[in-house]
Amino acid sequence: MRTEEQRLKEVMAQLALPIEPEQEQLLLKYIHMVVEGTSRQRLVGPRDSGEIIYKHIFDSLYPVTLNIFSSGELLDLGTGAGLPGIPLKIVLSGQKVFLMDANRRKIIFLKKVCRELQLDQMNFLAGRAEEWARHPEYRERFQTVVCRAVADTAILAELALPLVKLGGEVFLYKGPRGVNEAAAAKHALRLCGGEVNRIYHYQLPTGEKRTLVCLSKIENTPDIYPRKPGKPAKKPLS
Ligand code: SAH
Repeated sequence: MRTEEQRLKEVMAQLALPIEPEQEQLLLKYIHMVVEGTSRQRLVGPRDSGEIIYKHIFDSLYPVTLNIFSSGELLDLGTGAGLPGIPLKIVLSGQKVFLMDANRRKIIFLKKVCRELQLDQMNFLAGRAEEWARHPEYRERFQTVVCRAVADTAILAELALPLVKLGGEVFLYKGPRGVNEAAAAKHALRLCGGEVNRIYHYQLPTGEKRTLVCLSKIENTPDIYPRKPGKPAKKPLS
């Protein structure tokens, strides 16, 4: 069986992303911590290192190969066990990153990860996007928001766009349904000041098809959005 190090090297070669040995070590440490955290602390996350490397690390880092992230603050909304935010931070080392999750246990885990990996310029937002988007310090603040496996596009329109600054972008990591979801969410996106800018198609080493839906923030989000916590998911804008 291949070691974690060999698997990671293989994935980085497939992505054609050159990284320093220190960055590779940090990715390996993170992979260990997620696998341990999933079994010991019963955090929901990838269960074994093969799955995390071939599926989640590859997926998280794929957009870096497209060179689409502007410098400026990046928010990972609904980061869970730190995906894609932690792998992105390790590879884009100068980037200022904010990790947001409604689940406080996950934020506690992520603080521990960042401490042990000595990642700088990391910020933690425990709580729901609906609430943070009402906070004057965070509303329309971010240049980039990334979001993976959190909700349907119509729901994410209302959760993510209020947090993005005018001219900024949202990147939704999606499965093959991404294209249809994006089309169905057109009106919801417009209501919140966004539109679909472009969609990338790619495949994971596991063979799964993925899409990356890129949204642009073209108008300020009206004050009525997001609606109160839970409402965007219960009654998505249409
Ligand atoms: N992005 C991670 C985790 C996906 S699970 C990955 O790709 O593996 C979805 C996460 O989104 C959960 O941790 C959940 O707590 C968080 N979440 C769901 N709705 C949210 C909201 N409204 N605000 C903030 N976090 C939310």
